[in-house]
Amino acid sequence: MSLNALVEDTDSLVDAAREAVCRIFGETYDPQRWGDWHWQSRHRLTRLTHFEQLLQLTPAERRGLELAPGKFAVSVTPHFAALMNPHDPDCPIRRQVVPRQEELVVGEGDMVDPCGEDHHSPLPGLVHRYPDRVLLLALDTCAAYCRYCTRSRLVAQGHLEPLARRLDRIVSYLEEHTEVRDVLLSGGDPLLFSDERLDALLARLRRIPHLEFLRIGSRVPCFLPQRITPELVALLRRHRVWLSLHFSHPRELTREVAAACDLLADGGIPLGSQTVLLRGVNDAAATLKALFHGLLKMRVRPYYLYQCDPVVGTSHLRTSVATGLQIVSQLRGHTTGYAVPTYVVDAPGGGGKIPLQPETVSACEDGVWTLVNWEGKRFTYQDPAYDV
Ligand code: SF4
Repeated sequence: MSLNALVEDTDSLVDAAREAVCRIFGETYDPQRWGDWHWQSRHRLTRLTHFEQLLQLTPAERRGLELAPGKFAVSVTPHFAALMNPHDPDCPIRRQVVPRQEELVVGEGDMVDPCGEDHHSPLPGLVHRYPDRVLLLALDTCAAYCRYCTRSRLVAQGHLEPLARRLDRIVSYLEEHTEVRDVLLSGGDPLLFSDERLDALLARLRRIPHLEFLRIGSRVPCFLPQRITPELVALLRRHRVWLSLHFSHPRELTREVAAACDLLADGGIPLGSQTVLLRGVNDAAATLKALFHGLLKMRVRPYYLYQCDPVVGTSHLRTSVATGLQIVSQLRGHTTGYAVPTYVVDAPGGGGKIPLQPETVSACEDGVWTLVNWEGKRFTYQDPAYDV
């Protein structure tokens, strides 16, 4: 089969998947409408009746879809839904966003607020855990809802007041706290704001002279790449914003996602990506290597691999730390350094991020370190004499 025939074959499969999603809403697939982020937002799959038209649901998924909405919202954009394998309940895309009965299981050590954010919150929607950085929870909605969300206690729950009512107090706090130099806007997903509202928010923060660094944490380029428009890129560039993206699996790196990342990178927006290690989704070195290589090709630097936080109802999606360490040891030295993110655990109870390393340091005696390289060979490194 020629390469052209293969591409056409793939295109027709993509079109068929999109057609199936549109049929749920009594519409036909129209590429122009599909590319409109407002249309995508209005046509999100949120209910059992949506999912059962698209997927061969397992009893655990059906039960999860019946019970989850009272606990944590369900929503999937048409773009992401079209990536799900209707016949494979173990599809890594499906596992991330379709709830399962297992979400009702409360495992030992599960926590509602595993990162202890609520204890470090001087104002609603502001977390001040590290001296020079704050997390500003701009809104509580996302394009789609990840079943392992650290902030499931908050996101989509409707408890967070609209930002317009909180912003004055937040700005006053930031003006008073001159030690804060770095603001991470997250939520929820700040890229769901309209351009006008996002522009106004960033402009307000940019007027605080000691804020050096503004970041936005977003899964929109993955769930809703149609949102990345030239106008949005121009406003992010104007406010010199960095983006922390979130990808889980190489199958998420579609043409639309690549185009969105190209727009952002060409627009001068620095791009990093965080990945959560998830059982049955990406807990294999080959999967993560393909993801990280794909991200580098799109000029996105993978920078954190997170051990999944022990959020209530997520034990079926979590791996052991030993699995994570083993995967990282299969990556480190075996590929480009840029393609190996730092593996971290966000210490339960609010201890912050702690990097986890595979055993590279085997011993140290009188300032002589024995180190193990990627081939398992031993080398020594001598400390300088004045430090011994
Ligand atoms: S996009 Fe982020 S905040 Fe939203 S549900 Fe997923 S993990 Fe949670």
